[in-house]
Amino acid sequence: MVPSLHYVGRFAPSPTGALHFGSVIAALASYLCAKSVDGEWLLRIDDIDPPREQPGAVDAILRTLEKLGLVWDREVLYQSRRRNEHQAVCAELLARRYAYRCGCSRKVIGDRPYPGTCRGLNLASAPTHAVRVQISQESVTVVDQLQGSFTQDLSATSGDFVIWRVEDLPSYHLATVLDDEFMGVTEIVRGADLLESTPRQYFLQMLLGLAHPTYLHLPIALDPAGQKLSKQAVAEAIEELPASDVLGRALAFLGHPIPPGLSKEPVTELLAWARIAWQRAKIPAIHAAPISGG
Ligand code: GLU
Repeated sequence: MVPSLHYVGRFAPSPTGALHFGSVIAALASYLCAKSVDGEWLLRIDDIDPPREQPGAVDAILRTLEKLGLVWDREVLYQSRRRNEHQAVCAELLARRYAYRCGCSRKVIGDRPYPGTCRGLNLASAPTHAVRVQISQESVTVVDQLQGSFTQDLSATSGDFVIWRVEDLPSYHLATVLDDEFMGVTEIVRGADLLESTPRQYFLQMLLGLAHPTYLHLPIALDPAGQKLSKQAVAEAIEELPASDVLGRALAFLGHPIPPGLSKEPVTELLAWARIAWQRAKIPAIHAAPISGG
């Protein structure tokens, strides 16, 4: 990639617990994509779902990033402090009739795409009403830097989707799109479990007239049985392991095994090596590799 002064990357964990191996992979890869081109790497805490948050999780996340030598630029952005801005955009979409209030319960809708029951009903604001954006384009294609072209038919997957939750909280899609724009993020590097969310976010960017960042969705770390790693077990392991071992494993997973002579070096040395060695073409696209020793 051509070095750019304007590259802005980010890591955006939700404070639902300590970092696990999958989130370390996302933190490290987003850091290296930014730092290998002398870009900025920002940290955002996605604290918009208080019922799922764990006390102490923010501190644990910051501690682990510091221990791994992943130093962020600028101040940490807490999404909860951007509620007024999220709310203003939701209100504007309602006023322009791009969005509508919906009184259907999750139980009634189930896992199906939303069939548009409340479209056109013009429901009033009420504590039992969510807000949904009306999809106007069925098929959305996102070209991912690693996973290739990804097309999703929004009407067959989500239908009109929620932008303001019945719990009076912004939805993940609305908050992430607005805050990535606010931070000036030019590329989003995150786990491939979020690839299927990307067309909805892409659609919102189009609707709101926002620039699209580029996307790179990383492979998912699986255990030897081929299951997604359990957050709990792996978070514990990360807090206990020496930082250079964690970085070594994460780098190996990302296709950049540390040269044998460096493996016991402090994290600053490992990251200095990795910034130079980093080639996104070496990242495997397949969600498979179990953790291998670094
Ligand atoms: N906060 C989300 C999570 O921890 C990730 C958001 C994103 O990268 O877009 O799963």
